[in-house]
Amino acid sequence: MMSKIAVFPGSFDPITSGHVDLVRRALPLFDKIIVAIGVNSQKQTLFPLEQRMSWIKAVFEEEPNVEVDWFENLTAHYCTRIGARYLLRGLRNASDFDYEKTISQLNHIVGGGLETIFLISDPAYSHISSTIVREIIKGGGDASPFLPAAVMP
Ligand code: ADP
Repeated sequence: MMSKIAVFPGSFDPITSGHVDLVRRALPLFDKIIVAIGVNSQKQTLFPLEQRMSWIKAVFEEEPNVEVDWFENLTAHYCTRIGARYLLRGLRNASDFDYEKTISQLNHIVGGGLETIFLISDPAYSHISSTIVREIIKGGGDASPFLPAAVMP
């Protein structure tokens, strides 16, 4: 039996409680979920790759079916390379949908049938984004209500 591997791609700058909830809810659907940080050298991030990776590792330390990785270039090519046939993405609202729809259709072609599985965000987390968290941190505020306990920026 081929194992069902899903890649959850993103910047995770930093990982939020919304991301964590999504992964936990998707665990029963897959044999393995790889939280994979897409690295784009043109894009400035608030936290370095090593820091973002170690936070994700800490969050899922006790979850044997979750792995952490990073990749460059196309998400679809990364999936092919590691033998993942599924992408995991979250939908918070209509603008997430508009954006994700196109990306998903492109990945299906480029990834030779790669399927994106969407979970609608839990209402308790649908207001949370890494962008908002970064703004709070930059402004000197306390972002802990939006972050898993292992993430202490
Ligand atoms: P990107 O670099 O694509 O913006 P993010 O790290 O912001 O990556 O998000 C990665 C994925 O996590 C996206 O599918 C996004 O919809 C989902 N996501 C982000 N925040 C939440 C949340 N609060 N609830 C559910 N899904 C979320």
